Amino acid sequence: MTVVDGYRLHAWGEEPRWEAIEVRDPGPGEVLVEVEACGIGLTVLNCMNGDLDDSPELLPLTPGHEVVGRVADTGEGVVSPQVGDRVMAYFYLSCFRCRWCLSGNESRCDRRAGWYGVHRDGGYAPLTIMPAGNAVPLEGDLSATEATVIPDAVATSVHVCKRRLRLGTGDLVAVIGAAGGVGAHMIQVAAACGARVAGLERTDEKLGLVSRLGAIPVDSSDLSAELDEFDGGADAIVDLVGTRQSLTWSIEHLRAGGRLVVLTTFRGRTFEVDPRTLVFHESSIVGSRYASRSELIEASALVSSGRVEAVVGETVGPGEVGAVHGALRAGELLGRGALVWRGER
Ligand SMILES: [Zn+2]
Repeated sequence: MTVVDGYRLHAWGEEPRWEAIEVRDPGPGEVLVEVEACGIGLTVLNCMNGDLDDSPELLPLTPGHEVVGRVADTGEGVVSPQVGDRVMAYFYLSCFRCRWCLSGNESRCDRRAGWYGVHRDGGYAPLTIMPAGNAVPLEGDLSATEATVIPDAVATSVHVCKRRLRLGTGDLVAVIGAAGGVGAHMIQVAAACGARVAGLERTDEKLGLVSRLGAIPVDSSDLSAELDEFDGGADAIVDLVGTRQSLTWSIEHLRAGGRLVVLTTFRGRTFEVDPRTLVFHESSIVGSRYASRSELIEASALVSSGRVEAVVGETVGPGEVGAVHGALRAGELLGRGALVWRGER
């Protein structure tokens, strides 16, 4: 057992407290990871709000799932990874043995034991324990800050663009919420697939980022935006906002055969679709859920090769996460945030 200073959440919906934490030794099948950095995005806030699970017995909890670090110790029976290996955390506590897991669809696992950072302590501490299957090898020499965007933001984008949409050359894609943590990487991954990409955002600063990343900026302040560059409609729309307005706008701006991807959802929030619209335009609504472990590796290759730039708007050191949480809640963060435990910021 080791005692470290890190963050503990004591009540759902509150900010985590900075305090001494006891980290046990890794058990059978587990690895102990020295956290280099942990990404900070809306999902961490949702986790801390109890949106994924608000069972009292999970508290106190160390949040944070976008972990990059090095294996410091391994428990009984662990063959891979080994001590010293650099790894990134796979978010879902999938079984890695069922038919979904064995077919590379680990996010569909039907024996999932919850989420790393919700049902197990995560990376808002300098040491963390995870099942060996969740510690995915990370090759290359990316900085810790850059690497934090890989296991969720870029991997999720790879799953959407390659697996769920099968984007190809010339596809017209619109991304709503294009300067956020996932959006800033989604527009780049879609472009890497050969698509022409428009990014919908609200402020000049965010539209500037969309433009710098190579996408067509579209002001969506009141969601009366038109896709003029695409003659009014897109082949695929990725809605990262998930409001009734954004979903309705999306359905109205699909071309014939178009596909709307939903991946940002809120409990109890629904929207209406006229089935005739789907029939007349042969349009589809597609759900997308996280990513597979192989897509994490694919995502790391995209970032390592420079085809996708890691967009981290703010990095903070230990004890300073409150500022990033505030910026996220205010909608002011560009791309992702990162909590850096070791190495350069
Ligand atoms: Zn499984």
